[in-house]
Amino acid sequence: MRILVVEDEHKIANSIKKGLELESFAVDVSFTGSEGFDLASSEEYDLIILDIMLPGLSGLEICKKLRKENIHTPILMLTARGQVSDKVEGLNSGADDYLTKPFAFEELLARVRALTRRPKGSVGQVLSIENLSLNTLNFEVKRGKKQIMLSSKEYALLEYLLRHPNQVLSKDQIINHVWDYESDVLPNTVEVYIGYLRGKLGKPEIIKTVRGFGYKLEGK
Ligand code: CA
Repeated sequence: MRILVVEDEHKIANSIKKGLELESFAVDVSFTGSEGFDLASSEEYDLIILDIMLPGLSGLEICKKLRKENIHTPILMLTARGQVSDKVEGLNSGADDYLTKPFAFEELLARVRALTRRPKGSVGQVLSIENLSLNTLNFEVKRGKKQIMLSSKEYALLEYLLRHPNQVLSKDQIINHVWDYESDVLPNTVEVYIGYLRGKLGKPEIIKTVRGFGYKLEGK
């Protein structure tokens, strides 16, 4: 899951990034409205956290412009305390949820999780295929009864695969959703991490290579 944070207060932006990275999200930060809009409209994010008061474009303007361009990435708006009209306007402009500053990180995380959950109709917080399961709340990964310990990046990669079962995912798609903008990622990096995952998940092989295209998590 890759998240864009658009917030001009560096301290807040950096602490959100740090906190979310500890939860295995890939996070890009933008400190201005115009750069935030450029990133939001050119990169593939799973969620955008958007402050309202920003230099350049405001959060509300960004939100409206993105929706107008048919970009429907979920948006969590950050508003200053007590600005009720901002909240209403934020939701009207196409935001999916809002949070009033100052907020506890746990609350932000709860909203982030709610907004990045699988589309409607999926079961709870446990993603699974065959006898492999991943619990997005406590990070527990199991194959059958065996618990599997993964690094943060391996976990993020497996979560992304599990959210798109039986779909061929290109290396570029995987990079876009699992690594942030600053990471130096080569297509080979994906191969390396897929290799780590295969080693840890064991047999039978559940991650299929689709030659020339990418990878597919296969099963029921
Ligand atoms: Ca601000």
